[in-house]
Amino acid sequence: MSRKLLAFLLSELATIRIICRNGMCGAITEIPINRLADTMKANCCPVCRSPFCNQQLERPPNWLARLAEVLTGLQKTADLVDVEFVLPDNAEQPAAARNALAPTVTH
Ligand SMILES: [Zn+2]
Repeated sequence: MSRKLLAFLLSELATIRIICRNGMCGAITEIPINRLADTMKANCCPVCRSPFCNQQLERPPNWLARLAEVLTGLQKTADLVDVEFVLPDNAEQPAAARNALAPTVTH
């Protein structure tokens, strides 16, 4: 059985999309990785200003700024280690095959 996978390397990642889950907003903001930390400094939706953090926490973390730090840090060391994201293309497979997906190690 062949399995179709979609894969990309972290070093290839240039832009991400931030999706606001505020019920009436739903804005999708495309941001280059190298501008993510600055763009998301306010830690809220750039359209509706809804916060992107858990307000119940005493000091809500800015997860998007942390993500930017990790992504850019790993991209700087991509010649030493890279990360590949693998998405199974489930569109052409029966349910039984989709459920059989498991992590694989290749050399
Ligand atoms: Zn929003």
